[in-house]
Amino acid sequence: MSDKFDLPFESQLAPQKLELGTEIQFHCHKGVSCFNACCKKADLSLTPYDVIRMKRRLGMSSGEFLKAHTVPYQMDQHGVPGIKMRTDDSSACLFVTDEGCSIYEDRPTACRYYPLGHMAVKEANATSDSAYYFMINEEHCMGHKEPKVQTINEYRRELGIVDYDGYNRDWLDIQLKKRSAGPSVGNLPESTLQLFFMASYDMDRFRRFVMSEQFRATYDLEEGAYRALETEDVALMQFGIRFMRQVFFGERTIPERANAWEERVEKRQEVWDLRRDAEVARKQAQDDDMYESGE
Ligand code: SF4
Ligand code: SF4
Repeated sequence: MSDKFDLPFESQLAPQKLELGTEIQFHCHKGVSCFNACCKKADLSLTPYDVIRMKRRLGMSSGEFLKAHTVPYQMDQHGVPGIKMRTDDSSACLFVTDEGCSIYEDRPTACRYYPLGHMAVKEANATSDSAYYFMINEEHCMGHKEPKVQTINEYRRELGIVDYDGYNRDWLDIQLKKRSAGPSVGNLPESTLQLFFMASYDMDRFRRFVMSEQFRATYDLEEGAYRALETEDVALMQFGIRFMRQVFFGERTIPERANAWEERVEKRQEVWDLRRDAEVARKQAQDDDMYESGE
């Protein structure tokens, strides 16, 4: 999981580690005096699953959604691309209305978590990461004064976080793994960063890439798998994560066709041969013109 979710407000508070069974006192609802305050100062990073849910809700392609509702940023010092929700000039979320969130059922992960923070840590030599939670108890947020008490796990279920976490986990794990791998996977070439952006956020473009003849000639997938990738966004997102792991860490979970490499070299050779022949023909025509004109 990511080590941090962006929260709508900057917190000055030192987080105290909480666990799934820890009880918290908090309730956000229309009746609180601060209703919508956090949405009017929004700073939200988005995950691939957030994009899928919102683009579907808005009836947009991923490209249209990215253009209208997101801004890019760098998630680490190596330039791994992230996206944040676009806001208006006063930092208010474009989806906030007097009645609350206009895309409530499809709001992003970070909105569901707030004011709960989440941190994942991979201890040295551990095979899996450990999750911690912390509360951001800010003065303006009156939800902390409401009497409702529930465990963090109950809160996660009520807010739909459990499902979102399930879909986000593997993608966030790529970043955790990249960080713990250190400099060996540090500086990625521009083309790999572009691939990460496309497979993470620009689903419709990634789908065209996966359905292309060139991709099919390289990777050995069954027709049923292609059908799922053509029609199901979540299947495509999960495939994109496998593909990124293959590119980033050399994991070989997507089978390549036998001789794919040789065929690519052969094709490249064909292109070079065609280019050479064209150049010879052009030169020959130039020489013929020269003789004809008697120069
Ligand atoms: S998406 Fe909805 S919940 Fe999230 S900041 Fe915007 S209005 Fe608020
Ligand atoms: S109670 Fe907190 S989370 Fe709810 S609207 Fe107010 S500031 Fe936002």
